[in-house]
Amino acid sequence: MTLSVAKAIYLILAVGWYVIRIPHERRSRRTPISRSARGIKERILLSISFTGLGILPFSYIAFGFPRFAKYTFQPSLAWAGAVTSMAALLLFYLTHRALGRNWSVSLDLRESHKLVTDGIYTYLRHPMYSAFWLWAIAQALLLPNWIAGPAGLVGFGTLYFFRVGEEEKLMREAFGNEYRDYINRTGRIVPRVSSVHPRR
Ligand code: SAH
Repeated sequence: MTLSVAKAIYLILAVGWYVIRIPHERRSRRTPISRSARGIKERILLSISFTGLGILPFSYIAFGFPRFAKYTFQPSLAWAGAVTSMAALLLFYLTHRALGRNWSVSLDLRESHKLVTDGIYTYLRHPMYSAFWLWAIAQALLLPNWIAGPAGLVGFGTLYFFRVGEEEKLMREAFGNEYRDYINRTGRIVPRVSSVHPRR
């Protein structure tokens, strides 16, 4: 494993992410939104996340920027980053497959929005956010730079902590007890032990 290979793996992760998302982006544009919690706060959070997971790592890969923050490349960390990247892509794919037309980049409810509780959503309420956390961890492991590496954890972490409570509130308002029951049997981003081995 060399630094160039680690950078290439990061780019493959980003391209894979995009390829998985495109069809959903197109389809979601055709499915009207019935209720939205989008606002200036959401827009700021999306920009912060995009800076951490997109702009900073790409400036590092393309221009070596910021140069003063680089450290010695460690192949073993990069190998762990490669494995984490593959796990992130797989999870990201599973979330899109299960969420289908109900996916949105922001906090929206679409017309005839269904509460998805199957597929990967059987175990987790926010598996797509788990996949983003894995991406951010992979980025920190693959890029030997004290700013560009951890930027994803900070950027996505900010979006996650400010958004997840709001999203659950929106879902509770829309789906009432169905969502409350769902909360009781699932974990947010890490599966509950009892949902992996349900008690009879
Ligand atoms: N937080 C989820 C989904 C992220 S996409 C995850 O991490 O997997 C964000 C959109 O998904 C929001 O507009 C929200 O309305 C919708 N959403 C979140 N959980 C959902 C669920 N269980 N079923 C259907 N739609 C959901």
